[in-house]
Amino acid sequence: MNTPVVRFAPSPTGRLHIGNARPALLNALFARRNGGRLILRFDDTDKERSRAEYADAIVTDLAWLGVEPDLTVRQSDRIPLYDKAADRLRAQGRLYACYETEDELDRRRKRQAARGLPPIYDRAALKLTEAERQAFEAEGRRPHWRFLLDHRTVEWDDLVRGPCHIDGASLSDPVLVRADGSYLYTLPSVVDDVDLGVTHVIRGEDHVTNTAVQIQIIEALAGAAKVPAFGHHNLLTTASGEGLSKRLGHLSLGSLREQGVEPLAVAALAVLVGSAEAVRPVRSLDELAQLVDIARLSRAPARFDEAELHALNAKVLHHLEYADVRDRLAARGAPDGEAFWLAIRGNCAVFADVGGWSAVVTGPLAPVVEDPAFCAAAAAVLPPEPWDANTWAAWTKNVAQDTGRKGKALFMPLRLALTGLDHGPELKALLPLIGRARALARLNGETA
Ligand code: GLU
Repeated sequence: MNTPVVRFAPSPTGRLHIGNARPALLNALFARRNGGRLILRFDDTDKERSRAEYADAIVTDLAWLGVEPDLTVRQSDRIPLYDKAADRLRAQGRLYACYETEDELDRRRKRQAARGLPPIYDRAALKLTEAERQAFEAEGRRPHWRFLLDHRTVEWDDLVRGPCHIDGASLSDPVLVRADGSYLYTLPSVVDDVDLGVTHVIRGEDHVTNTAVQIQIIEALAGAAKVPAFGHHNLLTTASGEGLSKRLGHLSLGSLREQGVEPLAVAALAVLVGSAEAVRPVRSLDELAQLVDIARLSRAPARFDEAELHALNAKVLHHLEYADVRDRLAARGAPDGEAFWLAIRGNCAVFADVGGWSAVVTGPLAPVVEDPAFCAAAAAVLPPEPWDANTWAAWTKNVAQDTGRKGKALFMPLRLALTGLDHGPELKALLPLIGRARALARLNGETA
């Protein structure tokens, strides 16, 4: 296969949320897995709703996820290409002028519904005489332009859904150009896909019907050989089955980042939910790319559960190796070295929890000493350094012998004194990191 070229094509009309992360990542991972290239295309022909700030935020959010496009294009920079394509379609008689207002179309659809007919555009504009057209123009009406669909069945072998077919006669001729001359999404998307050599269009299943239309437009403009492969993935829904919309602000990627969610947790959940693979933590996007095969996505809705994201986040942290987090630990001023990370990672739900465990190791920390006599007895038999992973067992054996305590009555007062907490990482791992001087002071009730 030639180098695959895929694209992620958001409209910069809001922040990306976890639902948009799914097509972004399915494309990015497809490129990674197949040695392909990823294009980021801003579908910004809607001037009213598109904003440069949103485009910038999308770039930032993708980078946070680890998605770095090979090329970024903006449709607003490419209007002359769409003009040329529209002219060619007009010359072929495939793009025709329509003068109906929204109201007129609405009334027509209601009449069709009353007669039990589907709301398909009746092509009345094709029957206008030159005189009627001129009368509309004289009234000040400007035409919008529809693509004349071939009334034949369009077929494609969907990368996700398998063989698909849609009868062109079951669809309205789509409006490609608005009365003000601006383009709706359909034509620019096709022109760009052909012009940029996109080989695989991977997008949500809300675009299945568009695909039939777009295949016909590509065939009209560039010939059947230029039709890319299409794959339509299932959409993420909320746990109760509703679509994830841009209004769910707390599920925006920016907000998840602020909540301390790991990008790898977002990425793994966004693509593994509703796939053949179980949701699981990964250490890298490369590892995730090997797990995701779009041919094996399920057709059922993929339910996104926020609680699952937070649980997965903790698991992702528990799987990260020291090399994966060394720089981040240093940036937080955490104790140097692998031993610290291995000791505490299992007790982090978010990376920021490193701060608390850092303070436990390096202090100062106010110990909790409820039984000073017991803690003093334990302090009296603290072994000399150097300490290692066996020190805790050797020491507590002696404490048990001297005090007659065992189990929780032995361990909990030591944990409270040494860490100020009743829970946390294994003391066997923490004790050598805390060190003798600090341990001694804390057992004596001193802040250290
Ligand atoms: N801008 C379109 C969307 O966000 C792109 C669809 C496509 O991938 O073709 O739905």
